[in-house]
Amino acid sequence: MSVTHIAAPPVVLEDRIIQRCSLCGMKLIDMPKPSIQDEKPPDKPWIPGKFISVSEDFQVMMPFTDYIPTDLCYYVVSLNTESLSIGDL
Ligand SMILES: [Zn+2]
Repeated sequence: MSVTHIAAPPVVLEDRIIQRCSLCGMKLIDMPKPSIQDEKPPDKPWIPGKFISVSEDFQVMMPFTDYIPTDLCYYVVSLNTESLSIGDL
């Protein structure tokens, strides 16, 4: 089962980049800050505002659509729920 989240702007904190969902707050990315010596630019963090489909161990940025995905976290997860771990969905 996948759930679609909306990427919030990434936060650079010391040597890490953290990016959460702008709706439910689930952590999408927690990765080392890329080095300028990296040969190719990383595909993450995601572009803020994009739909990100998340399954148990895989994330993918969805192509542009003019409709809201039916598995959007807003519909799937209660915003009052303490635990928003993907494993609980
Ligand atoms: Zn979300």
